[in-house]
Amino acid sequence: MLIFLNATIFLFGENMNKAAIIAKNLVKSYGKEKAVNGVDFSIPKSVCYGFLGPNGAGKSTLMKMIYGASRRDDNSGGAMKVFGYDPHLNSLAIKFISGVVPQDNNLDEDLNVEQNLKIFSRFFNIPTPLAEEKIDELLRFMELGEKKKSKIKQLSGGMKRRLIIARALLNDPDLLILDEPTTGLDPQVRQLIWEKLRMLKRKGMTILLTTHYMEEAFQICDSVLIMNKGEKIMEGNPKLLVSKHIEPYVMEVYAREHYERLNNAALSSCRIDDSTDVIRIYCSNHGQLTMLGDELNPGEFLLRQSNLEDLFLKSTGSTLNARQ
Ligand code: ADP
Repeated sequence: MLIFLNATIFLFGENMNKAAIIAKNLVKSYGKEKAVNGVDFSIPKSVCYGFLGPNGAGKSTLMKMIYGASRRDDNSGGAMKVFGYDPHLNSLAIKFISGVVPQDNNLDEDLNVEQNLKIFSRFFNIPTPLAEEKIDELLRFMELGEKKKSKIKQLSGGMKRRLIIARALLNDPDLLILDEPTTGLDPQVRQLIWEKLRMLKRKGMTILLTTHYMEEAFQICDSVLIMNKGEKIMEGNPKLLVSKHIEPYVMEVYAREHYERLNNAALSSCRIDDSTDVIRIYCSNHGQLTMLGDELNPGEFLLRQSNLEDLFLKSTGSTLNARQ
């Protein structure tokens, strides 16, 4: 009871008007397993916020809790407000103010592009002439204008994804929720989707997405919540997180025998991570790593700037793309 009261006071505090979503101590269990385990976050309006973590981290479950498709545990004392609504009590209101891009391409294969959008517009009671106008506008925006009469089977994976984003925008949502929007897509389509999401954010939309691509988080997220095994590892601006928590440079050495040839004295001020097949040598001094590189042959190593993947490895001991 006390936990619940604390959470309620937290939620109705002065931050509520500025925040798109406030969540406190979210827990979701499947049997004995906790898919989400005590996660807190606060997301301001008009930002792009990413849930980042490997497969099985709990990202999709968390997103589903936000739009009411998955119910948080009642007995955990958790609480959440999405644009002022509790998904437990007002999931319909949340549906009307949000657009959802689920992980799977759940389009109706028997209908063409335009028909898929028309059917959806009826869920929102959009009058037909307005829906037709909106459909044309959104197909142009997602660069699918020429595909209006195409069958779903004739679309590439990237086109289907863009169509689902167009569908999620039919009701002019305040909140756009995307579950792995670019997984499996080629780099050009990924760039195109990132550009469209940036444009929507500039118009004031709040965007939530899940991803296991650190590059995606770096490119479009103002803030990320990094998850592992249902728990929050850290939260913040992706660039600041990297600069604050990890050495700026890393040398990746591709085999242990190459690593063993390196001069031990030069390694003494570096942090070594040998938990994966690739041995990583982290250092604040770029010159020191260059000198170490001189001891190896080209192709045996890569010298680069540190990134979110390195931060994740440091925090959890595994890589973002490792399956749990
Ligand atoms: P992510 O999106 O980060 O890949 P998920 O939220 O899909 O992770 O899953 C988190 C954990 O919850 C996983 O262990 C997954 O197997 C489990 N899980 C997700 N959905 C269900 C479900 N409907 N029933 C049982 N377990 C589930």
